[in-house]
Amino acid sequence: MITLSNVSSAEIIEKENKYGAHNYHPLPVVLAKGKGVYVWDVEGKKYFDFLSAYSAVNQGHCHPRIVDAMMEQAQTLALTSRAFYNDKLAPYEEYITKYFNYDKVLPMNTGAEAVETAIKICRKWAYEVKKVPTNTAEIIVCNGNFHGRTTTIISFSDDANAKDNFGPYTDGFITIDYDNLDALERALENNPTTAGFLVEPIQGEAGVFVPSEGYLSKAKALCEKHNVLFIADEVQTGIARTGKLLAVHHENVHPDILILGKALSGGNYPVSAVLADNHIMNVIGPGQHGSTFGGNPIAAAVAIASLEVVKDEKLAENAAEMGDLFRAKMNEYIQTSNICTLVRGKGLLNAIVINDTEDSSTAWDICLKLRDNGLLAKPTHGNIIRFAPPLVMNEEQLLECVSIITKTLKEFEK
Ligand SMILES: *Cc1c(COP(=O)(O)O)cnc(C)c1O
Repeated sequence: MITLSNVSSAEIIEKENKYGAHNYHPLPVVLAKGKGVYVWDVEGKKYFDFLSAYSAVNQGHCHPRIVDAMMEQAQTLALTSRAFYNDKLAPYEEYITKYFNYDKVLPMNTGAEAVETAIKICRKWAYEVKKVPTNTAEIIVCNGNFHGRTTTIISFSDDANAKDNFGPYTDGFITIDYDNLDALERALENNPTTAGFLVEPIQGEAGVFVPSEGYLSKAKALCEKHNVLFIADEVQTGIARTGKLLAVHHENVHPDILILGKALSGGNYPVSAVLADNHIMNVIGPGQHGSTFGGNPIAAAVAIASLEVVKDEKLAENAAEMGDLFRAKMNEYIQTSNICTLVRGKGLLNAIVINDTEDSSTAWDICLKLRDNGLLAKPTHGNIIRFAPPLVMNEEQLLECVSIITKTLKEFEK
């Protein structure tokens, strides 16, 4: 192994612990390099990345085409702010709107910012188009949601750890059960102040919960019936992750507002976007929303290259195939396992459920062992482990990963 740093992992972890705020609890591994489906730690040990930075690195680490686009633009023009036009934003706006079939895009940087943007657009649409009385608009959200970390977004989270002691909270959100059409219908009925329904097509952070077939298309139809905007947060599920370009495409749904982030840059740069048609997006006028970095030339160049890679390398098709293979292989193993009870997911967004209580450390211990065996994943919500490798993974690599995962799980069989 060739070491990639003259400082050890232990020293780096200790330093981060001392100087960094403790807002994360990382798996103890210090990465120094990435290429495709692989990452290397500072001691030179190679791993399969089975998290892909929460599905930001769908195109694989340091994709040469994306990196080239970024380097070239960084050496030409990085930032102008939106006080002036730049020559890269308009071509990107045309490219992404045609790619996802919308009239207009509003460019931002992080996923949370894009969710905030969608909420603002939805509320303004409610007052100016739907004619909801001022300051009474409500947006329906789901139990178990994850939409980011801003004060407004955590106001409608039901994760106590994400929410507690950050109040007072933002009003105007109604929470219903996920994957429950009756609950949605009840919330929509006789509720003229409802402006939107904000939903993840698959709940990623909550533990990769795939809703029943027909949920999204029927939810969309209910929203149409009640003149309420269907807002899809595809920050994690979008851009080929689940085996289609968008997860809503599994049910042929075209959201009124589409929120994208993460893989929009292949993980190379913070790039997010909100897409909608003119009759919605035109409620936003100059000075009513923005961001110094949103729509900057580097982001525009990086996003075009990232979306081209998804199409040219057929990443959605590959995610669908590799995902089917992964779940089939895991299900074979689960038949004989008493430590792993379930695998679920779509495409290459999957999770396994560990047969132990939610507050046990088993899933964490399994992830430590996976690391020792050369594969990086992280528990989400106690006893669930999410598996989301880069979508450039081939069959041989996937089978090697399945063998690492099953071999590791076998060490934990009771
Ligand atoms: C990650 C994520 C976000 C937030 O994105 P950030 O870039 O971390 O702000 C929002 N929604 C979903 C579904 C996500 O997975």
